[in-house]
Amino acid sequence: MRKFEYNKYIEKRKEEKIMKIRYFDNAATTRVKDEVLNEMLPYFSEQYGNPSSLYSIGRSAKKKVEEARKKVANLINCNPNEIYFTGCGSESDNTAIKGIAYANKNKGKHIITSKIEHPAVLHTCQMLEKHGFNVTYLDVDKDGIVNLEQLRNSIRNDTILISIMYANNEIGTIQPIAQISRIAKMYNIIFHTDCVQACGNVQIDVKKMGIDMLSMSGHKLYAPKGIGALYVRNGIEFEKFMDGGHQEKNKRGGTENVPGIIGLGKACELTNINLANHMKHLQELRDYYIQQVEEKIPYVYLNGSRKKRLPGNANFSFKFIEGESLLLNLDAKGICASSGSACTSGSTEPSHVLTAIGLDRDIAQASLRVTFGEDNTKEDVDYLVENLIEVVNKLRSMSPEYNEFVRNK
Ligand code: PLP
Repeated sequence: MRKFEYNKYIEKRKEEKIMKIRYFDNAATTRVKDEVLNEMLPYFSEQYGNPSSLYSIGRSAKKKVEEARKKVANLINCNPNEIYFTGCGSESDNTAIKGIAYANKNKGKHIITSKIEHPAVLHTCQMLEKHGFNVTYLDVDKDGIVNLEQLRNSIRNDTILISIMYANNEIGTIQPIAQISRIAKMYNIIFHTDCVQACGNVQIDVKKMGIDMLSMSGHKLYAPKGIGALYVRNGIEFEKFMDGGHQEKNKRGGTENVPGIIGLGKACELTNINLANHMKHLQELRDYYIQQVEEKIPYVYLNGSRKKRLPGNANFSFKFIEGESLLLNLDAKGICASSGSACTSGSTEPSHVLTAIGLDRDIAQASLRVTFGEDNTKEDVDYLVENLIEVVNKLRSMSPEYNEFVRNK
């Protein structure tokens, strides 16, 4: 069996003098780890059986799927039979929200979420509004944290679901999840959290935190794209999102993505072993980057909470500059970052998250999100900051607003 080795691939790129890519966009997606890929490979072309088949390669696939389910469950401290594999984080969010809405529509039709959710939650809620459901979108403060008083005041007799993301994909803000779940429990309301950015980057324990449903996605924690999982606490009824065969306890028809599931399981296992070190590594890079930018570049604003944020996220607005121009200039230096969520870049509208924390249009459009991953080093951060200084100076020198600002100073 041929094994993939990332370091050899990098060496080859160096020999061929291909520009080194410095990747700082781990919230958009992560590289599949070698251990993850190598665990998946046999299940494409050797052990390719369908887990529903009774002969040996089918049974072997089924066994690996169930092993992976245990590994995913271990990461968030739930029972394996509370994990449902899906096609992505968006599908997990859709299944949770629509599944609860349709299963409980006779009890009530009111859902509470926040204004800074990912489109996988926001657009699902908007779709339900077209079908007679009512949705309250909670405000957030300047750090991006939901107002718990407003949450309490929004609860009605017909509220069936609260869905608040664990950590934001753009500004990295972490919500007071245990407090939100306590409020939901007090009123007997189901609590779902979109954990796509948090899983793999912070410690999660659904039992301790009182989480009823949780969405995660493989490609944010070093597993491939096209695989996700949904945790549903035993005892919670939800409507299936995908009709079809009897797979996933009859909740998600469709032959299982066996290699993807195995990859997600392996990535969760590796995360579980190394989470504390991983978090420390990201936090050190993030704090060093924040300190360097604030020290060396004037007129910058850190978006999101300074303390309650994902260990690898730093989102700055660089006054007088368009985030998109910054990105393209950095790309020419081999630097990958983001000017907002990957799913919304390409649109010229300012990010709904940055608008919700109170930024005006210009500052919202001047943002650059950097999200560190396990391959990044301090030397990468130095390269990033050095190039950022150069690009920011160049773009500001071409900005009429900046030149006028300097003249009037
Ligand atoms: N939720 C959040 C917070 C995300 O950041 C993303 C992806 O960026 C998703 C959901 C969607 O996940 P997927 O890309 O697996 O559909």
